[in-house]
Amino acid sequence: MAGVALRFIPGIGEQREQILRNLGIETAEDLLHYYPRAYEDRSCPLKLEETVAGEVAACILTVRTPVRERIIRKGLSLYTLLASDETGTCEITFFNQKYIFSQLKQGKAYLFYGRMEGDLIRKQMKSPAFEPVDDFASAAKIVPVYPLSEGITQKILRKSIGFLLANRTESLEENIPLEIRQKYALCEKKYAVRNIHAPENFESLAIARRRLVFEELLQFRLGLLAIRSKNTQTPGIPMPLGDSKEFVKALPFTLTNAQRRVIEEIRMDLQRSVPMSRLVQGDVGCGKTMVAAAAIWLAVQNGWQCALMAPTEILAKQHFEGLQPLFARWNISVVLLNGSMTAKEKRESLTKIASGEAQVAVGTHSLIGEQVCFKNLGLVVCDEQHRFGVQQRAMLSAKGEAPHLLVMSATPIPRTLALILYGELDISVIDEMPPGRQKVNTFCIGEEKREGLYGFVQRQVAEGGQCYFVCSLAEDGDGERKAAEEYALHLQEVLPQCRVAFLHGKMKASQKEAVMKEFAEGKIHVLVSTTVIEVGVNVPNATLMVVENAERFGLSQLHQLRGRVGRGQRKSYCMLFCEDKGAEAARRMAAMCETNDGFVIAKRDLELRGPGDFFGNRQHGLPEFRLADIASDMAVMEQAREAAELILNGDPLLQEPRHQVLAQQVDGMFSRCGYGAIFN
Ligand code: ADP
Ligand code: MG
Repeated sequence: MAGVALRFIPGIGEQREQILRNLGIETAEDLLHYYPRAYEDRSCPLKLEETVAGEVAACILTVRTPVRERIIRKGLSLYTLLASDETGTCEITFFNQKYIFSQLKQGKAYLFYGRMEGDLIRKQMKSPAFEPVDDFASAAKIVPVYPLSEGITQKILRKSIGFLLANRTESLEENIPLEIRQKYALCEKKYAVRNIHAPENFESLAIARRRLVFEELLQFRLGLLAIRSKNTQTPGIPMPLGDSKEFVKALPFTLTNAQRRVIEEIRMDLQRSVPMSRLVQGDVGCGKTMVAAAAIWLAVQNGWQCALMAPTEILAKQHFEGLQPLFARWNISVVLLNGSMTAKEKRESLTKIASGEAQVAVGTHSLIGEQVCFKNLGLVVCDEQHRFGVQQRAMLSAKGEAPHLLVMSATPIPRTLALILYGELDISVIDEMPPGRQKVNTFCIGEEKREGLYGFVQRQVAEGGQCYFVCSLAEDGDGERKAAEEYALHLQEVLPQCRVAFLHGKMKASQKEAVMKEFAEGKIHVLVSTTVIEVGVNVPNATLMVVENAERFGLSQLHQLRGRVGRGQRKSYCMLFCEDKGAEAARRMAAMCETNDGFVIAKRDLELRGPGDFFGNRQHGLPEFRLADIASDMAVMEQAREAAELILNGDPLLQEPRHQVLAQQVDGMFSRCGYGAIFN
């Protein structure tokens, strides 16, 4: 039914068609895949005396009085009537919706659905949903609640989808092969679609939902596996030379076992004749940069160029300044490329990259610019990969011929989950910290501790430490600048002995760098910043991180911020100001105070905020799920993973006719987030 236009649905005209299109709904089939976000349970009506104030209820009530209109002020009318069952009477009110009242007839029974208010003496429902009850069975049901957009009401969606369910489901094609459906006890597509929108009861809703979640995750896994096998079929660049021992010996410290293990995994990958696609996960401060450096060193030993891409200029600069002296002893030439360099500096870097004179190019996304040409790019490294989209990664890789790819992430997620979500990548985990790292003592504090905190800051600075103050979530526009500047001014007043400076996203890159440099050199004691310091920067002397309005940050983000301190030998602290006294905020702050383990934090974050927010703006390049919930649908996810392998084992390119629908759907799913066609 792929092509059936929405216009053919009664009640959908040109205007509504456009609104639906904006929601990504183009055809009748798309609309059938627009799933409810919740349900109203009107299936078991309560007697009035059973209802609880404050809770949503469905009640069958008979209208006892005519409608009374009260004009509260011009343009605002209140309509009231009384309705009752054998256990009590309830006042029903609506504002301004006279037309609704004309539908309610005295003496007739209706099913009312809404939040019960009032007290034992007088119950009340404000603007409830209602429908006539001729016989109980026809009205009592589970009603879908759809995500809305301006110009589209619940009623229109319910009616349109209801129409399609009544008239068009015959042509819904089954897309999961029979043997898979049997093996995993999945219901048919038609049954699933019908019952996700209009469930007969909660059991059939669960059956429908499980099947559709499975379908969605199956498509997701099929896509990832196909991307992966495409990668492994591309001839890569074997890099057989080099023993990382020589590199390791030159380092100023001993690598941790975890670092060594991961470097070895990378070395094996580089030797193979398929391109590496590896994700290195490790908590903040575990030493991912050295692992990347080892990979780069190996590639250079084999005569290939490398690109290291970082999400911010500060971080790119820091990598450049770390790698350049390290590689100097082997005469490896490293250049920097970022947006704020002068035209002349850029030209120099570009020339060296193009001629091959520079073996390593470190930079921001400037590296994917059109004018950047490599002579022989053999390895691409993306630091803090969650900041980049799949497309950006692919664009950098396209500057070579199937170069090896290494991506690094400090947002650790549980391994089982990582295996499922990053199926197209191999995963290495650095699960060990360099020796001597201390726990960052973390406290959640209120306003009453502010004076004391300033004293603490002064002592830290007197003892040679440095402090970060993160003032608020970065706002766009001028608010961010003002917040940082005013806050810094205030701190300078209360901390006269300290040198205070600020950093925000609106500053020029050169200004930011100058401030960071002075901070790194210890010339600035207190650095006020928005979250521009969130990723990567390394100042081992910093001992205190203060976060204002900590409740506004996600747990993983707070953990990243905290990771800016405790990087040296000094005892370090993190102070979280939290205004929100609610239970949810309390749980999040408690998690921060209890543990320093990024994996534990990520797991809590996932549980507390749900995957939508967790992955929301940070995990670019993954399709969004319509139904599946990566935290609670783990079991189905595991089965879908297995099923995807079964299907592809028999039909690696999904060419069999019975897999066609599935192949198309997978392509659709991945093309929406930047991948090219996978199966076509
Ligand atoms: P991240 O994993 O967060 O990117 P970095 O690579 O920035 O961490 O490393 C954090 C700090 O730890 C750096 O100062 C780095 O030089 C240092 N470091 C890395 N590995 C070791 C090690 N094995 N022993 C001691 N210090 C190390
Ligand atoms: Mg890093």
